[in-house]
Amino acid sequence: MKLSTVLINNESRLVGFLNETHVIDLFEAQKELNNKEIPENVWMNMQSFIEAGEPAILACQQMLSDFTDSLSHSFIYPFEDLKVLPPIPRPLKNIMCVGRNYKEHVGESKQLSGKSQPIPEKPIYFTKSFTSLVAHEDFIEFNRNVTEKVDYEGELAVIIGSKGKNISKNKAMDYVFGYSIMNDVSARDLQFGHVQYFKGKALDTFAPIGPCIVHKSSLPDYTKFKLQTTVNGELRQSASLEQLIFDIPTIISTLSSGMTLHPGDIIATGTPSGVGGGFDPQRFLNDGDIVEITVDPIGTLRNSVREL
Ligand code: MG
Repeated sequence: MKLSTVLINNESRLVGFLNETHVIDLFEAQKELNNKEIPENVWMNMQSFIEAGEPAILACQQMLSDFTDSLSHSFIYPFEDLKVLPPIPRPLKNIMCVGRNYKEHVGESKQLSGKSQPIPEKPIYFTKSFTSLVAHEDFIEFNRNVTEKVDYEGELAVIIGSKGKNISKNKAMDYVFGYSIMNDVSARDLQFGHVQYFKGKALDTFAPIGPCIVHKSSLPDYTKFKLQTTVNGELRQSASLEQLIFDIPTIISTLSSGMTLHPGDIIATGTPSGVGGGFDPQRFLNDGDIVEITVDPIGTLRNSVREL
């Protein structure tokens, strides 16, 4: 089950994928089915859908299978014709991120930040403001008066499905709703100039995410995912999710210790080696560059860079 948030007739709508190319407006589809078991407002956006839990997931899976062979309905659209929005346009909290979570990326920290960093003993957490979110195909924008060192970080994003606190590692995956792709765009001069990462990570447009969320039922083993980042078609990052230093159960368990996680929370799991700042000489992003992050089997998140 693969879901996106899109603009239809200038309104934000939750859509489900019927196949690789076509999506269905779930709110309009449930009206046609006249299904009263799930409250109508559940189908209006991704947040309310995730909060509705298992009954909504089962109803959605049924609806997607019911409509698979009837692509002529007025509420079925070719996905490529639609303007995509961030899957969860206004999450309840900032996006939570894990820093230095791949060994080879830690290895490029001297080139990146000017000093060598050890392999962390505990997960490093920071956040990005939700106001930095942009969608697939939106611009990553920067101004040289603010930053001259804009860098990409391809990452797997985990979407939390249910509320939980003090979650044990062996129960952690029960709290996952699904997966998406995030570019943890970073202003390196601000990131390392202000001691704390927040300023360098939370500029407007510095959190491209999407184009979709894939429910975990379709993708049972995230350690088999492959992540690749290209800039203008040139491969820069390539890794497997089994290379994470702190795996997803560890991330969820430690984050939720004493701190409640909520449905729709977004956790970016860290980036592998190959960021622009890790090259010698460094290769930061410029106006017109196109960054594509593919997580197989989720899809590709593509954004162009625009200097203001
Ligand atoms: Mg990152």
